[in-house]
Amino acid sequence: MAEIIAKVMVIGGGPGGYVTAIRAGQLGLDVVLIEQGGREGGLGGTCLNVGCIPSKALIHAADAFAHAVEQAKSAPLGVRVERPTLEFGRTIEWKDGIVGRLTGGVGALLKRHKVKIVHGHAEMVDGKTCRVDTDTGPQVVKAEHVVLATGSETAILPSLPFGGRVISSTEALSLPAVPERLAVVGAGYIGLELGMAFAKLGARVTVLEAADRILPAYDAELMRPVARRLKALGIEVVTGARASGLSPAGDALHVMQGDGAAHDIAADLVLVATGRRARTAGFGLDRLDLSMRGGFVQVDERCATSMLNVWAVGDLTGEPMLAHRAMAQGVVVAESIAGQRRAFDGSVIPAVCFTDPEIVTVGLSPDAARTAGHEVQVGQFPFQANGRALTLGAEDGFVRVTARADNHLLLGIAAVGAGVSELAGAFGLALEMGARLEDIGGTIHAHPTLGEAFHEACLRALGETLHI
Ligand code: FAD
Repeated sequence: MAEIIAKVMVIGGGPGGYVTAIRAGQLGLDVVLIEQGGREGGLGGTCLNVGCIPSKALIHAADAFAHAVEQAKSAPLGVRVERPTLEFGRTIEWKDGIVGRLTGGVGALLKRHKVKIVHGHAEMVDGKTCRVDTDTGPQVVKAEHVVLATGSETAILPSLPFGGRVISSTEALSLPAVPERLAVVGAGYIGLELGMAFAKLGARVTVLEAADRILPAYDAELMRPVARRLKALGIEVVTGARASGLSPAGDALHVMQGDGAAHDIAADLVLVATGRRARTAGFGLDRLDLSMRGGFVQVDERCATSMLNVWAVGDLTGEPMLAHRAMAQGVVVAESIAGQRRAFDGSVIPAVCFTDPEIVTVGLSPDAARTAGHEVQVGQFPFQANGRALTLGAEDGFVRVTARADNHLLLGIAAVGAGVSELAGAFGLALEMGARLEDIGGTIHAHPTLGEAFHEACLRALGETLHI
């Protein structure tokens, strides 16, 4: 087979890789993108196939069912529903339909920008060459620039290897039926998003976490409304405990408490969600002379690796492992290759936890700001005092702003509450534009909206709040 020669070769078609390829195509560069497909991949990568999108679809379906069940029980809004039932097969079909539309869309966008797609597993030969194992045989691809975007994979717990009843988020998103009893190992965002969704779909869920509380990556104040909702959903949470294996019959999870006490959690399925690790093995990365940082490929502010004209983006390059970070890096790399002077600034990357209620954070928490040496002014506004939240029947939560005490420059914004993920854009924009408390306080926010809580949190930090 003839060699393919291009200006840019992108390995991996996830958010990092496909955005690099689209932007490079827009800039007139000759691009080849290689995607292996398979269980966890395909155009769109983890995010579109087995991550962000299918999980949010499942969460939405679970919410719809839980609302119907609630209406059937007590009709708090006066909407009477007779015993709702769940056709889970149709739920999964609907979710798969969304995934299909989006992954097909990525293929069409790549085509529109004249990106050549090679389907198969790429193996690096050197810093300019890879060999792709395609359905029609091996294919050599050479390029002046190589962009590594191979993403991440679920971390394996040695005590609970995947297989049989032990599943990862990938399998959890395509189950044939809702399990009767589900044990979730890991109370980070993936474990809680899926655990809460399955509880709403009817499973009896237990969540196990080694740290002394759920969502250890978020500050305790933001975690509390989620902890209350877990309790209301009947989800048992076991903290300060580790999973040490399955019972011989496979129907219970052995748990070891911090004090050495052991007990079992009965479970039909065990979902292990203890984190993800960069996909650095199995494609000849060791043949390149790359500096590493921890388990990640080290990159500079342009996302350039330690080898000339070898770039890396996305989960492969470190935390936060989020799709929008990968995409932003992809744009920087494509434009850098096209000769523009670009740098990736990761100081304002929103993080959203699609639990119930949702959490969104951007920038620094009050504690992190103080640790960084700032004297801070903090304003918090509860959704209990926000009209829109009450009309949505969702008053648990708040918006919190952290600003410098001396000049009121916003350093961090966070919220917990139903639907707050949609405030991430406003929060990010405020930080990115260098807004001060007075800028948000002086902006007319539409009434009645959840965004008014952001306005009021800033007014509160200034001692001028109107509605509390
Ligand atoms: P990936 O999306 O992992 O893509 C890498 C691609 O490279 C894959 O398609 C893979 O098949 C391909 N590949 C790897 N090696 C080779 C090779 N040798 N040859 C050819 N192809 C190869 N992030 C958010 O921002 N918001 C969310 O709500 C969110 N929810 C998530 C929920 C779950 C359950 C999971 C698992 C993840 C979630 N994430 C979320 C994280 C998000 O999916 C990742 O941050 C994002 O996909 C990273 O993009 P990437 O391009 O770096 O890598």
